[in-house]
Amino acid sequence: MADGSRQTVAVGVDLGGTTFNVGVVAPDGTLVAEQSYDTPHSGNEPAALLAVASAVGGIMEQAAIKPEQLLGIGAGIPGPVDPEAGIIKQAPNMHELDGMNAVEILSAETGAKVHIANDAFCATLAELRYGAGRDVENMVMFTLGTGVGGGIALDNQVRRGPRQIMGEVGHIVVEPNGRRCGCGNHGCLEAMVGRDGMVDQAVRLLEQGIPSVLAERGGARHEKLTPKMISEAAQEGDEVALRVMNTSGHYLGVALCSCIVLTDPDLIVLGGGIAAAGDVLFEPIRRTVRHRSIISGYDTSRIVPAELGNAAGMIGAAALVFDAQK
Ligand SMILES: [Zn+2]
Repeated sequence: MADGSRQTVAVGVDLGGTTFNVGVVAPDGTLVAEQSYDTPHSGNEPAALLAVASAVGGIMEQAAIKPEQLLGIGAGIPGPVDPEAGIIKQAPNMHELDGMNAVEILSAETGAKVHIANDAFCATLAELRYGAGRDVENMVMFTLGTGVGGGIALDNQVRRGPRQIMGEVGHIVVEPNGRRCGCGNHGCLEAMVGRDGMVDQAVRLLEQGIPSVLAERGGARHEKLTPKMISEAAQEGDEVALRVMNTSGHYLGVALCSCIVLTDPDLIVLGGGIAAAGDVLFEPIRRTVRHRSIISGYDTSRIVPAELGNAAGMIGAAALVFDAQK
């Protein structure tokens, strides 16, 4: 653009129960400015949404963006939403927002056009438009964290389906008699390889007396164990940690085999903290896909880490705004 100061931008918001991030994003996906804030909570008031609105004003001022340059605001919500109606259906750790019309509240406070989507949808959209998936049109993304989220892109669009369930890859059953999942079912991918699932796997191995650096790092009752600790120990060659990564990689691979035959993806992208573990996780995933997706002959070099890291939430939320312009 000839005059950079007049360039149009979108603001992307990544809302979480503890903190939220707000970023000014250019149409090419560049994060021009960003800021992180604590998420306020107060009874039945939409305190978090009011704080978001005020943070949007603050960051526009900080980045010297005039109101007429702002195309709109996109917000990623950590839970199911109705994007058409603008309603947050359920916000874990922020139940005061359940049922609230975030689009109405944020529009009224900021005067801007507002779009919302589920946070995993935003992360998938960010990687599809600007990250690992920018050269493909069909992509599956898994986000690995406390829970397991994801998204499915077909023909260059992230899809959620009429009931907003498409891409809920964390609830693919990978072990029919496995751990109980937060959704009420047993053996969902999220139950097996989400935070609690990975920690449980490690505790079980430690209780068998297998020597491990995790025995000391995890505390007397293993109460300090985290997936990050496990993935770091795996990179150091720790046997217990490596076995957890192998089992987790196996379950992820099994879930990916289902995604491959259902969506025929050009690329599979893995994001979230544990995806940074590298080969100790990717090798068992690729091995499982090679052995278990015989029909597809899937090229496992097309299973890759996400590129945008934590910024994906903000960038993807802003991409909701840019997509709406098309
Ligand atoms: Zn489940």
